[in-house]
Amino acid sequence: MDTKSFNNISYGLFVLTSARDGKHNGCIINTLQQLTSDPYRVSICVSKADYTHDMIMAERKFNVSVISQAATFDLFRRFGFQSGRDVDKFDGFSDYAESGNELRYITKGCNTWFSCWVEQTVDLGTHTLFIAFVTDAARISQDPSATYAYYHSSIKPKPQAAGTSAGGKTIWRCTICGYEYVGDELPDDFVCPICKHGKDAFEKIVR
Ligand code: FE
Repeated sequence: MDTKSFNNISYGLFVLTSARDGKHNGCIINTLQQLTSDPYRVSICVSKADYTHDMIMAERKFNVSVISQAATFDLFRRFGFQSGRDVDKFDGFSDYAESGNELRYITKGCNTWFSCWVEQTVDLGTHTLFIAFVTDAARISQDPSATYAYYHSSIKPKPQAAGTSAGGKTIWRCTICGYEYVGDELPDDFVCPICKHGKDAFEKIVR
């Protein structure tokens, strides 16, 4: 199977937020989709490794903010490249507001938010599929929504142009976040220190 085939499925990008015991957290997901409109239902699929996952399992509610083309890489770094188990992702961050369900949504770099109440969960091994009723929603900017392809072409930092670093070096570049590892071989168990993707996410370049 050509596993790169999955890269050709187009996705939106979203900040998923929840809270438990007064602690708020969020992560980046690409799996929001509308299921029905009477009543309004959506689904999200969330890795069990995400701290936000456990909050949603416990509290049965979440918000999703739709990331727009006005988003900066900082939003992805804050919510995507670190774990809420280690840090408070809202520390020093003020671009949020609270909806009626007492959860936060992102007010900058996002164009819409949804509040959701979990109806069903499906255990998918590494992930949980949450099916939820939409209890509230609003649009907050006119900026177009960002796709995963847009993130790669326009938000993710551009790698250095060839020739600007030492010549003839083999470099392994993370196709998810742009992190570069210098070395002839990338160890099989290598994990990107920024976004935590494995060796499969790296491409080999020489310059
Ligand atoms: Fe990475």
